[in-house]
Amino acid sequence: MEYEVVIGLETHIQLNTETKIFCSCKADSSLDAPNTNVCPVCMGMPGVLPVLNSRVVEKGVVLATAMNADVQSTSFFDRKNYFYPDLPKGYQISQYDRPLAKGGYMDVPQADGSTRRVTIWKLHLEEDAGKTKNDPAAGRRLIDFNRCGVPLVEMVTGPDIRSADEAANYLTRLRQLLRWIGVSEADMEKGHLRCDANVSLRPRGATHLNTKTEIKNVNSIEAVRTAIGKEIERQTREYESGNKIEAWTLEWDEDSQSLKKMRSKETEADYRYFREPDLLPVQLSGEWKSQILAEFPELPLVRRARFINDYGLPEYDAEILTAERSLSDYFESAVKSYGGDVKRVSNWLMNDVMRMLNDSGKTAGEIALTPLYLAEIIKLVDSGTVNTNTAKGLLQKVVATGKSPAEIVKSEGLAKVSDDSAIRAVVEQVMAEAPGEVAAYKSGKVGLMGWFVGQVMKKMQGKADAQKARIIFEELLK
Ligand SMILES: [Zn+2]
Repeated sequence: MEYEVVIGLETHIQLNTETKIFCSCKADSSLDAPNTNVCPVCMGMPGVLPVLNSRVVEKGVVLATAMNADVQSTSFFDRKNYFYPDLPKGYQISQYDRPLAKGGYMDVPQADGSTRRVTIWKLHLEEDAGKTKNDPAAGRRLIDFNRCGVPLVEMVTGPDIRSADEAANYLTRLRQLLRWIGVSEADMEKGHLRCDANVSLRPRGATHLNTKTEIKNVNSIEAVRTAIGKEIERQTREYESGNKIEAWTLEWDEDSQSLKKMRSKETEADYRYFREPDLLPVQLSGEWKSQILAEFPELPLVRRARFINDYGLPEYDAEILTAERSLSDYFESAVKSYGGDVKRVSNWLMNDVMRMLNDSGKTAGEIALTPLYLAEIIKLVDSGTVNTNTAKGLLQKVVATGKSPAEIVKSEGLAKVSDDSAIRAVVEQVMAEAPGEVAAYKSGKVGLMGWFVGQVMKKMQGKADAQKARIIFEELLK
């Protein structure tokens, strides 16, 4: 039988606010020793009251808007009750039937050129719990409460994803979007973006949903792809053998690259949700909402399409140049300053500038080579003032010194030497020093021309007009 794969993803996104959601502890405690970034509120001591951090609501609104969801003017917090050592209050403050936003979707481009619309079933604010870890040597379990109260958005997709690759594509686009709109660092390895995957199969053409399994603890996009792929294989084998699928929760083990059964799934009723009595409803006035969205950016996929349509860029270029917002903004500024062929700016950026960025670990907005300077360097090549080699060196020098390209060309005498007699003198010198090569060339080894020109460039510190040198060689070697 042919099966259709049905996948829904549940993501937890850590918002990059300064402080936690209901207290003034720092939200990011990645550099702190365990249990040092806590206070009576996030530890759930008796008699304390939570106070909602408005920045959490604001970032949540930006995210919901980017996901095409309907932001609600009134939403409520609820208590989700369960007992686990990492949850000192005995409940998690979350949102249930009146979340921050409803609906929403993301259109995810696929490798074959098609688009998958992934709907959003749930989008709400909540607090994170602590972290437990095994200490097998001492035969005990340790708890770190630093993460208690870190602001999260939980976002659950509909069962719209049809393969492991589509799941990976969705997460890749989500990560790009989260960074682009500035609501999360979205680093999966650091737990800023966590993903559980619900996987089931059904006969192709069927519309019902079969029993699903849930995969937890996957910490990278590649691991999500591999884990889902393995679970699809397992479920296919079970169905082929006439077995049923049970609603297991599976844990991905990165070391052995395999899925392990954790426990049977809890149902929602187990959580005894009720309204959080210590918090007021979130009232989002029209004025506040428009303030929050005043600087809402053009989103990456929209910009990607615009680069292709308006600039005529190849899809490959548009994809790379919209991977990060800073790079994308840089590109547009450089295009405006340059005013010429857009593809030339794209090539300089994708080759030389991106290599420098990778080497330095900086983003496009952080280097001394401004978009204006990049445009200036390309113009210096266009006008014949410097050759391409010199221009490449010039990029490095601008980054190192912060001086303008024109200033460096002037102070270091980098302008291309196009003076015929100067080049001719060096050509003659090269020929006098290499009688063997000259003879070889004359007897038919014309491939040596590149070497001859290279020698001239070397002697003239790369500043010679290579085209002129070649013409003079051809004339003298006849
Ligand atoms: Zn606290």
